[in-house]
Amino acid sequence: MGSITNNYKLLPFRFHRANGRVLLVNDVGEYISLNDATFTKFIDHTIDTKSNDFMSLKSSFMAYESNLDSIIELLATKYRSRKQFLFDFTSLHIIVLTERCNQKCTYCHASSIDDNATGKHDMNSTTAKKCVDAIFSSPSHNIKIEFQGGEPFLNFEVLKEIVEYSEEVNSALNKNLEFVICSNLIALDANKLDYLKTKNIPISTSLDGPKDIHDTCRILRNGRGSYDIFSRNLRWASDELGINNISALMTVTPYNINRLNDVIYEYIQQGFGSIFLRMMNPFGYARDNKVHLQYSVDDFLESYKAALDYIIKLNLEGRYFPENYTTLLLRRILTPFSTGFVDLQSPAGAGISCAVYYVNGDVYVSDEARMLAKSSGDKYFCLGNVHSATWKEMFCGDLLKRIVSESCIESLPGCAWCVYQPYCGGDPVRNYALQGNMVSSKAENYFCEKHKGLFNILFDYILEDNDDIQDVFWSWITGKNLEASRIR
Ligand code: SF4
Ligand code: SF4
Repeated sequence: MGSITNNYKLLPFRFHRANGRVLLVNDVGEYISLNDATFTKFIDHTIDTKSNDFMSLKSSFMAYESNLDSIIELLATKYRSRKQFLFDFTSLHIIVLTERCNQKCTYCHASSIDDNATGKHDMNSTTAKKCVDAIFSSPSHNIKIEFQGGEPFLNFEVLKEIVEYSEEVNSALNKNLEFVICSNLIALDANKLDYLKTKNIPISTSLDGPKDIHDTCRILRNGRGSYDIFSRNLRWASDELGINNISALMTVTPYNINRLNDVIYEYIQQGFGSIFLRMMNPFGYARDNKVHLQYSVDDFLESYKAALDYIIKLNLEGRYFPENYTTLLLRRILTPFSTGFVDLQSPAGAGISCAVYYVNGDVYVSDEARMLAKSSGDKYFCLGNVHSATWKEMFCGDLLKRIVSESCIESLPGCAWCVYQPYCGGDPVRNYALQGNMVSSKAENYFCEKHKGLFNILFDYILEDNDDIQDVFWSWITGKNLEASRIR
């Protein structure tokens, strides 16, 4: 029997009980799992300080015996690393080039309108230049401009003007400047492809699964499915730009939720090296058509878990193929680094990491904020307009300060004591859209329900102590194939 002592002190941590075990997580994201009896001894100050469990508790900073000052110093360094994104102000700038689209997807979050619509639905050159001026006023050294719509190819001349003008402005500033275009690929032609190739602009597109699934929701304005044109143009773009310069998002709908293995197979067939299983958001037509499109968070989590099992199996069979959201969450859990994903930050990335420039020059704090304005007319999250407000008025004003202070999950009810808080983030726009305030009640919050469920699933894998699964996860985190990242 080892020595029993109470000569140690606890450091701050949050905990959660499940299946006879207790998960402890501290502010810098270090974690440890104990059985119930050991946890009770630990908090009663009666655990054997020579035991392996106590050594692990000490090395993961749940307790200390001496040198508190240096421990605090170390924890502060780790905390700074996790919050590194705060040193880089707004770097992702989304420009909405047009409200028009040649598709009418049943879940379109952007509430796009007919591609033949007349009126002021496209961004003009004057507004585009003003947007670029605002973008380059950001103190961030990293500027990523993402072109969105509607379908941005429908206003391609203005896209080119933005690229050229941004390069001109940046010649004096020398920032890291990148572009990406989000396109359904239907209006691709040789001139556009040439331009993207010359300017090294990657494409982010959408693929919901094999033809019968994709064509259910992603339909052309004439009512036909978009799969045939999409896959033909995808092959063309892939030949010209390389598949590594094309990524795809898939949206989970009731039509593919029970067929995710078919969706994964389709991604592999099309040459993609990864997948992003995205739950549908409650904006735009997805909200209007929710009678046909709704499913529960439990349904999503069940299908996500089954798909992840399948993806892990594929990786163990020798195919490197990560699920991208899982990789992002694993980076947060298993590494000390900041991931900078604007949708999962505390304080939220809205406005301070990402901004959206609408067709008319209105500036919103996030993609969801402009979707909310478009679908319901509620412009609560509009920071101002590039034609009438200065950068300082928009980005140093009261609204953005309020968003920041109300999205620090460290102090939000529910999140403040949640064991997963160091890995999670705030979502003030979604909270406001669904519950009428930025803070929200976690009990009725689907974002929270989804993330708690995802973290539960990932911790079940992590704590399973299965070397093969750990190796797969580390191969995703490091971006190396499985053999190169084997830890044994
Ligand atoms: S989801 Fe994209 S491609 Fe589909 S209608 Fe909306 S903007 Fe167009
Ligand atoms: S949103 Fe939910 S899962 Fe995330 S920290 Fe808050 S309570 Fe935890």
